[in-house]
Amino acid sequence: MDFKDSIRVIPDFPQPGISFKDITTLLKDGAKYRAAIDELKALVAHLEIDVIAGPEARGFVVGAPLAYALGVGFVPIRKSGKLPYETIEVGYDLEYGKDTLAVHTDAIQPGQKVLIADDLLATGGTIATSVSLVEQLGGQVVGAAFLIELTALAGRNKLSDIEVVTLLTYE
Ligand code: 5GP
Repeated sequence: MDFKDSIRVIPDFPQPGISFKDITTLLKDGAKYRAAIDELKALVAHLEIDVIAGPEARGFVVGAPLAYALGVGFVPIRKSGKLPYETIEVGYDLEYGKDTLAVHTDAIQPGQKVLIADDLLATGGTIATSVSLVEQLGGQVVGAAFLIELTALAGRNKLSDIEVVTLLTYE
């Protein structure tokens, strides 16, 4: 299925020079949303996965339905200060700006095989930080799944040890 025609590209958002890939136009189309999750499920079918972890907020709209489809658990990775229980945190640089991500200390058991999911791979900073959090808890990251990869930003190079699957690419 062609998913690219369901993505709206917004020039100069949220800053001049950024060409933002708006996935809300895909999400509101039930058939396309389901097909996108089903296709990601097929792309990760060969991996052994115990749990999916996804960074807020758009990682939830990819990771949670994928976890449901695979019958595995979902672990939210959130911005600092949002999770109610004890957390570990890691700071990182964004394509635009800086942030800190956190995860509950008991979210992943040592040795669990974890797939990380998000809507979009840009510089790879968000996912490299998510990998770091999962690994600090003793989880083994077996792959990363995205709707979209911005290939020019080479985020994949930050994830050289893990399998990366994406539905769509943009230069
Ligand atoms: P990275 O950390 O790989 O540089 O940036 C990826 C993160 O920023 C993802 O969590 C993603 O949600 C967000 N992001 C960056 N650029 C875009 C974009 O053009 N479209 C969308 N939907 N998210 C973006």
